[in-house]
Amino acid sequence: MKKLLLILVLASLAMAALAVFTEDMEYLGYTGVLKERGGHWWLHESYGDSLRLLLAPQAKLDSLEYVMAAGDTVSVEGFREKELFLVGKMWNLSREASMLWLRWLDYGNLSANSLSSYNVDASKCIGCRLCVAPCPMGAITMVKGKAVIDLEKCVECGICIEGYGKFKGCPVRAIAPK
Ligand code: SF4
Ligand code: SF4
Repeated sequence: MKKLLLILVLASLAMAALAVFTEDMEYLGYTGVLKERGGHWWLHESYGDSLRLLLAPQAKLDSLEYVMAAGDTVSVEGFREKELFLVGKMWNLSREASMLWLRWLDYGNLSANSLSSYNVDASKCIGCRLCVAPCPMGAITMVKGKAVIDLEKCVECGICIEGYGKFKGCPVRAIAPK
């Protein structure tokens, strides 16, 4: 009887772990219309869902010369966490031949695809902690009073530099891609 109970407990633990894994790694796709709000791109689906698109920092998009405009219909694939959508691939259906591949996320790999790596200049960091909570990947921790970015977790969304919502980015510009 004890053995059966143990097997049942282990089976339910395994199922719970699998559920968490699957939820964390779910790769999704959406299609909708682009809007710009608060200086950021949002995707509005026809049935009312709004997703803030986590793209590469603007400088990277500029370097790719990727054209986007409010009102364009786009399809995105990537990883969703509440209203934040980390874009892996993006097609602009309003323009010709404009598939943008930002990150390799198809298999749940949330680590960066080596576009660049983000770094905190410890000599500039004043330890204000403002960047810690807004990081959608929990990649920033404080070590000896200075912010440190875990590059295994960082997905190069640029929020720590460019800001999100009330957070306007590192106030002393201590974070930069290298
Ligand atoms: S926001 Fe800038 S100054 Fe503040 S902890 Fe983060 S890196 Fe340091
Ligand atoms: S460290 Fe900065 S760029 Fe990396 S995931 Fe966090 S907020 Fe985005």
